[in-house]
Amino acid sequence: MADHWRPDTLAVQALHRMEEGDGGVIPGWRPATTFARRTQDYEMTAPGFVYGRADNTNVRLAEEIIAGMEGARACLLFPSGLSAIASLFRSLPAGSHVAVQDTGYFGTIKWLKDNARRLGLEVSFFATGDLAALRDALKPGETALVWIETPANPLWTVTDIAAAARLAHSARARLAVDATVMTPVLCQPLALGADLVFHSATKYLNGHSDVLAGALVTNAPETPLWQAAIAERHSSGPILGAFEAWLLVRGMRTVHLRVRQASASAQVLAERLSAHPAVEKVRYPGLADDPGHVVSAQQMQGGFGGMLSFEVPGGRESGAAAALRLVSRLRLIVPATSLGGVESLIEHRATVEGPHSDVPKGLLRLSVGAEAVEDLWADLAAALAG
Ligand SMILES: *Cc1c(COP(=O)(O)O)cnc(C)c1O
Repeated sequence: MADHWRPDTLAVQALHRMEEGDGGVIPGWRPATTFARRTQDYEMTAPGFVYGRADNTNVRLAEEIIAGMEGARACLLFPSGLSAIASLFRSLPAGSHVAVQDTGYFGTIKWLKDNARRLGLEVSFFATGDLAALRDALKPGETALVWIETPANPLWTVTDIAAAARLAHSARARLAVDATVMTPVLCQPLALGADLVFHSATKYLNGHSDVLAGALVTNAPETPLWQAAIAERHSSGPILGAFEAWLLVRGMRTVHLRVRQASASAQVLAERLSAHPAVEKVRYPGLADDPGHVVSAQQMQGGFGGMLSFEVPGGRESGAAAALRLVSRLRLIVPATSLGGVESLIEHRATVEGPHSDVPKGLLRLSVGAEAVEDLWADLAAALAG
């Protein structure tokens, strides 16, 4: 029935699923960790429901909604984004070679640097967004997985997904895309040739900064890698909790509204920031002169997302001091890590990443939320004015 509905309709109505007993329009929270067998024949009461480490109605509904939005055949949910990433890499055969872009979400790169060797994985890092560097990093026949994130933290560097997929496939590797920032609202990477898509559902999919969750989706659930990921989750146990899945379904009912609002406001703020004399540089793929603009305009529909970064010049003080002073003058935008919630957040990445960070010292990362854009601009403009 739901096959022909558009992704926003699927998400808003949670696949039109309702409570069976009383017709409640909101499906309930199903916390059971185990399921009864029938006394007469010892068969399961409901086929497919044995034990909560693999089987939960709330988790399955959330997975079906995400798969529906991505045009995917399967989805697996994990209790955080990084546990999904770790599970995927742990599902590769030991000895596999993987090619990974050299910047991106800090936790992803750090996890690979700290753990890949111990898992018997060989990692080649390539320059983010650089297709020639990606091609050089591939070992045809040996590379199992290519990992990209687009637009990528912290400069929102864009990678051409279709071109990256062609390169990966020419080496018989699979392409995985961290599409957290694009969300399924703005891009469906599987339709562009990607084999796997990852979301930190903690961010836009849930959208309310009250659930940690990670999702993997694919169009090829029969492949050994996906089957290994299912087995890895089932045997090691990182499945999303039932209550978190219930909250995630609730959050996803408005993901299209929230993401369109965040994108529209980010576009306005990026344009005004780039025209402001106290701002040195703005990084946002929606700006016509951004290096990723043309590719983003082709592979994203309906906006360029809610994430932007801008740099303030140091002048007589350091860039870091200037950036932190700007943050100290904000009254509305909240200084905090993370992104994708309805509340706007700002972060000084260099402070958070520590002394070895390569992020420009004057760079502030802004997650644009759903507040009135003129209030956000007034807050930024007052802080920039000093
Ligand atoms: C947050 C995030 C992750 C990690 O997800 P968690 O839910 O925090 O574990 C990975 N990639 C991107 C782009 C993210 O924003």
